[in-house]
Amino acid sequence: MKRFLLPVMALFLTTGISAQMVPEETEWYSPKPPKVTPGNQPGMPPSDAVILFDGKDLSQWKSEDDSAPRWEIREGAMVVKPGTGSVKTKQHFGDVQLHIEFKSPDPKNHSGQNRGNSGIFLQSRYEVQVLDADNNETYVNGMVGSIYKQQAPLANAYTKNGEWQVYDIYWKAPRFGTGGKLESPAMITVVLNGILVQNNYILKGTTPYIGYPAYEAHGRLPLMLQDHGTEVAFRNIWIRDL
Ligand code: MG
Repeated sequence: MKRFLLPVMALFLTTGISAQMVPEETEWYSPKPPKVTPGNQPGMPPSDAVILFDGKDLSQWKSEDDSAPRWEIREGAMVVKPGTGSVKTKQHFGDVQLHIEFKSPDPKNHSGQNRGNSGIFLQSRYEVQVLDADNNETYVNGMVGSIYKQQAPLANAYTKNGEWQVYDIYWKAPRFGTGGKLESPAMITVVLNGILVQNNYILKGTTPYIGYPAYEAHGRLPLMLQDHGTEVAFRNIWIRDL
């Protein structure tokens, strides 16, 4: 029994020290978190959000080659105009909270990756897939809610073709040190229609169509939306620069 005596005594000593602490030692008052007022309805932008699209114009966007974007505005949504290329924000971002809603077009005779394909590219490099998942089979790490070709979603939270789908995305950008060495990888949490589909997923790198993920050093970059040849519509896009 004697050999248990020392650890037990050590435990009492440690507990004794913390018992002498006052509660105030572990409480602090600054810096004070900024006051942010929520939107007037769920899904509407809070007071500090950057409004990227409010249904009216593409003033916050440009084409990939920096020319004026040629996507269309229809019924308060910005709609991919196939063949005109992806669009990206004029503003560059690092860590963000992003809200974006999308609607898949009429499926017609398209299937798999050709049915309502687009994508939300955080920092222009890391794709959260946008795809119709209403009776549409494809590889699971390329379905809606996936981190493209890296991680399947935890659930298929898509509702029905023709209905608006709501994404809330929480992004922690990768950090690079001297010489471009990766210090900490990107991390993402994705909620689709109120359902958690990516839970603090740590990215292995970029999300290429062919090949494996890899990191290459970068700083703040635009948010990009993909032209994948189908008329996906987007609305109510806002972002909080963290
Ligand atoms: Mg895509």
